Amino acid sequence: MTESLHVVCPHCHTTNRVRADQLGSAPTCGQCKQPLFTGHPLALGDEAAFDKHVQRSQIPVLVDFWAPWCGPCRMMAPAYEQAAAELEPRLRVAKVDTEAVPALAGRYQIRSIPTLALFVGGREVARQPGALTSAAQIAQWARMHLPR
Ligand code: ZN
Repeated sequence: MTESLHVVCPHCHTTNRVRADQLGSAPTCGQCKQPLFTGHPLALGDEAAFDKHVQRSQIPVLVDFWAPWCGPCRMMAPAYEQAAAELEPRLRVAKVDTEAVPALAGRYQIRSIPTLALFVGGREVARQPGALTSAAQIAQWARMHLPR
């Protein structure tokens, strides 16, 4: 029996059911027909989008809480891009602009940025305040905290 997983579309935020063994085969959204994985961090621009991905996704969601004025955040951005390409489709790689969505920064009590947080089944399982500056570091940190 092949397990299937709920994967939330990064374009239209519809929840799709994808067979686990198809995750790596460039699955597309049943609703909008666009790829479910883009290899780029997904900007979650409001609480509704964040909640859909974090609560409904059955793959872990890695979130970078950042802000446009933050130098270390900008320094980490290229590494984070690269990490997204490396980690998908095992994870959903996302980012939240804490200036644009302060409610999320408040809800998760983000005290320093950048902060990386890993969500599994809607729950935060790990947090890393401060920049990780290489894709390898980011990927390693995320993998270390994945459920087995
Ligand atoms: Zn879609």
